[in-house]
Amino acid sequence: MVATPIGNLADVSRRALDCLRGVDAIACEDTRHARHFLDHHGVTAPVFPLHEHNENAASARVLALLAEGRAVALISDAGTPGISDPGARAVRAVQAAGFPVVPLPGPNAAAVALSASGLLDQRFLFIGFLPSRSAARRTEIQSLAAVPAALVFYEAPHRISETVHDLAGLLDPDRELVVARELTKRFEQIARMPLAAAPSWLAADANHQRGEFVLIVSAPPETNSGSLDAEAERVLALLVAELPTRQAASLAARITGAAKNTLYSRALELKG
Ligand code: SAM
Repeated sequence: MVATPIGNLADVSRRALDCLRGVDAIACEDTRHARHFLDHHGVTAPVFPLHEHNENAASARVLALLAEGRAVALISDAGTPGISDPGARAVRAVQAAGFPVVPLPGPNAAAVALSASGLLDQRFLFIGFLPSRSAARRTEIQSLAAVPAALVFYEAPHRISETVHDLAGLLDPDRELVVARELTKRFEQIARMPLAAAPSWLAADANHQRGEFVLIVSAPPETNSGSLDAEAERVLALLVAELPTRQAASLAARITGAAKNTLYSRALELKG
């Protein structure tokens, strides 16, 4: 599994190039795209396609080569293969057949964006692409609203506007948004803004909607509820209204699985 650049062709390790020059074949997402990168670095190994629509058949081809004693590299169009990219099924098939899978580290758009986001003092959750259909996308965003972590999304230019509008409409508008655009490329831009300001930032300049995007939404502001999720909060609020504090906390713990101590502290706050 060989990571390749996410834009700047120089962002590839010496070890990755040595590997690509030494293997017998390279499985890649798009052969023309790969050839451009490989030719640039003087890699002459033959390529064959392995993408989301042929991954099972292409994995069989990888296995056949390995069984002949050959070495195969797998690359994707950009970054680390398998991350929002094909590769996972091939890795499982190769490991199941008893061959080793060796990861060669390198660029990954999410990690690159996070490193310059100023949000790495928070924990983060990598989501990748949200669903393309509006209803499913909105449902997923709502399900993430209370997750106590920064959220990391991938997005393409044709959906950036809809996605940013949905994030701004459904999440706490005071959360910060970091837009990391065209990373490692000529028009790289890393912009930070309150989520509420994001739709007008996008609309202010047509260039703001061009290119490839990583979106990072900062973690939700801390509440006094410790680590209670939205469902535990809801159940506890209902029970506190009807029952003595200790009994409400105890019952809420049994219903939601949340910690009784945390529920009890929160129940005291709610009563107070
Ligand atoms: N495997 C890749 C990785 O390791 O990051 C991700 C592949 S995924 C199909 C492509 C998405 O990654 C793009 O739509 C964009 O969201 C993000 N991406 C890739 N290159 C980028 C770049 N140079 N700048 C910003 N985002 C990028």
